[in-house]
Amino acid sequence: MKISIIGTGYVGLVTGVCLADIGNDVVCVDIIKEKVDAINKGTAIIYEDNLEQNLRKNLKENRIRATTDMEDAVMHSDVIFISVGTPSRENKAIDLGFIENTSCEIGKALKNETNYKVIAVKSTVVPGTTENVVIPLLEEFSGKKAGRDFGVCMIPEFLREGRAIYDFMNPDRIIIGEYDKKSGDKILELFKNFSCPVLRTNLRTAEMIKYASNAFLATKISFINEIANICEIKEIDANKVAEGIGLDKRINPHFLHAGIGFGGSCFPKDVSALIASVDENGYEPKLLKEVMSLNERQKLWPVKKLKEIFGDLKNKKIAILGLAFKRDSDDMREAPSISIINFLLKEKCMIQTYDSKATENAKKIFGNRIDYCKNIDECLKGADVCIIAADWDEFKEIYDKFELMKGKIVIDGKRILNPEKCKEINVKYYGVGYKNE
Ligand code: NAD
Repeated sequence: MKISIIGTGYVGLVTGVCLADIGNDVVCVDIIKEKVDAINKGTAIIYEDNLEQNLRKNLKENRIRATTDMEDAVMHSDVIFISVGTPSRENKAIDLGFIENTSCEIGKALKNETNYKVIAVKSTVVPGTTENVVIPLLEEFSGKKAGRDFGVCMIPEFLREGRAIYDFMNPDRIIIGEYDKKSGDKILELFKNFSCPVLRTNLRTAEMIKYASNAFLATKISFINEIANICEIKEIDANKVAEGIGLDKRINPHFLHAGIGFGGSCFPKDVSALIASVDENGYEPKLLKEVMSLNERQKLWPVKKLKEIFGDLKNKKIAILGLAFKRDSDDMREAPSISIINFLLKEKCMIQTYDSKATENAKKIFGNRIDYCKNIDECLKGADVCIIAADWDEFKEIYDKFELMKGKIVIDGKRILNPEKCKEINVKYYGVGYKNE
């Protein structure tokens, strides 16, 4: 099938490369020319396992290309995916600016088009957006009618950064929000070889399914973090508790790992957008507000520990392992490391950091206010304390490297180290939901 993808960030580029990989003819569109040029040269602008390799393979086989020319892409396509960003406004409500611009541009490009095409929103948008914003703009700028002249779907994306290609190719489910049956049938044809369950529904239900999924997962994280904090007080290991409750099939063991809270481009922004979208209607979503506020507090758990240990933090040399919001990603959006570093900078600490992929993005946030190290050894050297702020695999076996530190203290925000092993080598271990004797 001929596909275009508007917006080539984490979702758009992965979607484009994966759809090309299964034999479709894909055009990626972005307003940023440098991104387009990079894609055409085979450089993935984001880090995602296997993304660049698959991009190059599909470029070579002429199944994918990138352009800034929306009209060219729309003319080329049977299905047009919208995967532009939907960031938060200052008041945390969703900013639909990119969605609006894209809808206008697609509408203009549809004006002279006679073939039936389906426009599918993949961006995460609050319920009602496709009906109340996207379709009216498409109709206004094309002079055509949804359903009669073109189709519309809302296909929420559930991929996880760091596992994006795998998740796209092996989804738990495909949700097709459809304006009408003809639109949904077209999307079903595109995904016909995927073996997961497919749920067909209306546009606003599909939009809500995405928000409800993220809100549930965020709630599960804040829940286990709350339990972990209680466990610490009661001298219980939260990991054992998580294991115990996870054996209940109604609960399941996934997303029950205590840590320093969720970050990234989705959970914080989407839960906040959902809250803001109903606040306007006079309903107060108390549970979701609490999930967010618990998360903000949890991000600073390592700092709370540091204060308990040292009191005054001035001139302490702190090694931070992991800057990205999670392992296998270069994404710094809402990363807990940002809250931790900002706090420590205010306390006049000296901060040396290491992350194999997110350093360039971190430099855009912190500039020269912190040190960026080339490897774990350099980061730990001479430090008073080490904070693990992301769960990269390479941090799991660093026991022999603690020797490089001045103070042998580790604050494990991700519970990836073995406290017993730390004890054997005289490293003082503090972990979320772990009580030291
Ligand atoms: P992103 O910011 O990484 O990428 C968006 C891209 O859209 C940028 O490259 C931007 O230049 C481009 N763009 C903006 N306006 C454009 C226009 N008019 N024409 C063409 N390109 C345009 O965003 P992302 O992380 O890929 O997220 C995209 C959407 O998918 C968001 O709604 C997000 O909530 C949702 N989502 C993201 C993830 C994730 O893990 N990142 C997962 C599921 C859903």
